[in-house]
Amino acid sequence: MKQNSLKYFNINRLFNNIPAVHMVWHSMCGQAMSMLLIVMSVLFLTSSSTDKFTAAEQQQISIATPGLFAKSDMFNIDFTLVRDSEYSFPLPVGKAVSNGSELQIETAKGDAVKAMFDGTVRLSRHISGHGNVIVVRHHNGLETVYAHNAQNLVKVGQEVKAGNTIAIVGGQDDKTFLTFSIMVNGAKINPETIIAISTHKLRKQTVQCRKNANRVNIAVLTKEPAAKGRKLMADLDEDPFKDKNTFKLDLRNIEEQHWAYPLPGAKVISPYGGKRRHSGVDLKTRPNDEIVSAFNGIVTQSGPYYGYGNCIRIRHAYGFETLYSHQSKNLVKVGDKVKAGQVIGLTGRTGRATTEHLHFEVFFKGRRINPAVVFDHLNRQLQQTSLTLSKNGNVKKG
Ligand SMILES: [Zn+2]
Repeated sequence: MKQNSLKYFNINRLFNNIPAVHMVWHSMCGQAMSMLLIVMSVLFLTSSSTDKFTAAEQQQISIATPGLFAKSDMFNIDFTLVRDSEYSFPLPVGKAVSNGSELQIETAKGDAVKAMFDGTVRLSRHISGHGNVIVVRHHNGLETVYAHNAQNLVKVGQEVKAGNTIAIVGGQDDKTFLTFSIMVNGAKINPETIIAISTHKLRKQTVQCRKNANRVNIAVLTKEPAAKGRKLMADLDEDPFKDKNTFKLDLRNIEEQHWAYPLPGAKVISPYGGKRRHSGVDLKTRPNDEIVSAFNGIVTQSGPYYGYGNCIRIRHAYGFETLYSHQSKNLVKVGDKVKAGQVIGLTGRTGRATTEHLHFEVFFKGRRINPAVVFDHLNRQLQQTSLTLSKNGNVKKG
């Protein structure tokens, strides 16, 4: 299976790095997992069929994507996880107008037409009434159509990356423009569901594609709205369990200033769990680099602590705590109030450590949890998901 066919799924990233947690997650969110497995197998079928195209597929613009709805009549595409390098507006210098099913993007002669996402070219030829046309089949289940090109620069079967130049813009009469559309299973969808045409940006949301006879219905799955006026993870004394046993914390709704990756720029050198039952994740940059508090909090421990060396423990909102160890120097003391992103110590190798690094742990209600439940270490950001927190100490994804 092509790895990139699954890259929109966070949970997959989580598993890649941390095999030991696999089973924990499995039992904790069996239902969510089976849903994801359905989606994954759908996408697998899609991507495995991208390498070869039938003669019919090479000839026609609108054609069903083989296997797309073979296992289920719906699948989700999570655009919240798409990185900047994984998306391009099809004609970045152009100005777009929409008629609801197509964009006409006006520009100047000679401008480059770009592939919107990674994918495989399914069609590249002249089609009467459409000029030179390119159709790219993407690993996320979408197809994009680029028409009226002066010149196509890619061939059927060719792999393209988001942002690659695939054609030179053409047009009709004395106007220079690209006609662009997005299809699911051979049916055009409103491109404005996926992209904002004034800003050229991808809408960071999850869309659900559901087969409805010969059509495909597209729905935007809305985020769990943040409670009005509530600043998530900001107020230490807020008790979300005051009158209920569970609380849904959508990590996507925590404001920028209320979280921070504990060691900016770091790479994981040893994940949580595994054979050695590692109690945290080891993050590495350079010696004496600045370690920051992951959230607002109050320092409950700061000083040498057995094999941890110089150790800091911070209490945060809702029952979360974080622990930072092996510092060459701690810069906070017990009782200090800290803000998310505030420098609390410098990386070192005090205690049982063979190299300068940060050993980082996360606790919920006193129990250790995998830091990767909260942090996406690959992108050094919060996981783009919500967590269901239970008063009794359980943390469940979704
Ligand atoms: Zn460690």
